[in-house]
Amino acid sequence: MTGSLTIVGLGPGSAALMAPAAAQALAAATDLVGYGPYLDRVPATAEQRRHASDNRVELQRAREALTLAASGHRVAVVSGGDPGIFAMAAAVLEAVEAGDPAWRALAIDVVPGISAMQAASAQVGALLGHDFCAISLSDNLKPRDVIARRLSAALQADFVIALYNPISKARPDGLGAALDLARGVQAATTPVVFARAVSRADETIRITTLAEAEATMADMQTVVIIGSSQTRLVAKAGGGAWVLTPRSYEAAS
Ligand code: SAH
Repeated sequence: MTGSLTIVGLGPGSAALMAPAAAQALAAATDLVGYGPYLDRVPATAEQRRHASDNRVELQRAREALTLAASGHRVAVVSGGDPGIFAMAAAVLEAVEAGDPAWRALAIDVVPGISAMQAASAQVGALLGHDFCAISLSDNLKPRDVIARRLSAALQADFVIALYNPISKARPDGLGAALDLARGVQAATTPVVFARAVSRADETIRITTLAEAEATMADMQTVVIIGSSQTRLVAKAGGGAWVLTPRSYEAAS
């Protein structure tokens, strides 16, 4: 048997938002590797072996998956959302780059998934309708001053900004600092969306403004999206509103 490794995006949560190609790759695997809660989303089959690991050990998990594939297993590594966005596709290729040269002969594929920011934008309307960027607030893997520099530049450039990994016990102040930076640049009325557990049973979506936004509105299952100068609300007839970032840009003069 020739080994293979497929890095599979599970999407934001609900099975309906997972690509058919992802379901096929999962069904074809002899071994599933991933963070425990993600593995729990994959329907169990009798013959498959599951290798659950902790969230922080991505490189170790990637090496484990590559070792299994090199010994002939058909391995699927699972990621939430898209595996190429702050996730396992990069971890696997980093492990290949630094690891056993034999790993370069493996068939390695990536199956994309719907990322949290896309699912969140869809839930509120069209928040990513114009230029946007994604920034992870996790400082495990990059220095804090890089985060602050990128945030400032993105705010100056007037992007819609999706903040991943917004908060954790280790750095409770990261999101608060990011919101303060945003308040120094964008108007107080700028829409901010806190989208938690999008497409799961415990989904909560809060649409607020930069003036009202607080770090306590987010946890690690939340993606926080700060609008650009163009982002606005479109009122619904029965109350509530869609969030719109229009496709054309009106430069402030
Ligand atoms: N690869 C993932 C991101 C992994 S980083 C993707 O493409 O979505 C983990 C962060 O993603 C979380 O801290 C949170 O900010 C965000 N996230 C993942 N799934 C989410 C969901 N269903 N709802 C809201 N945010 C989510």
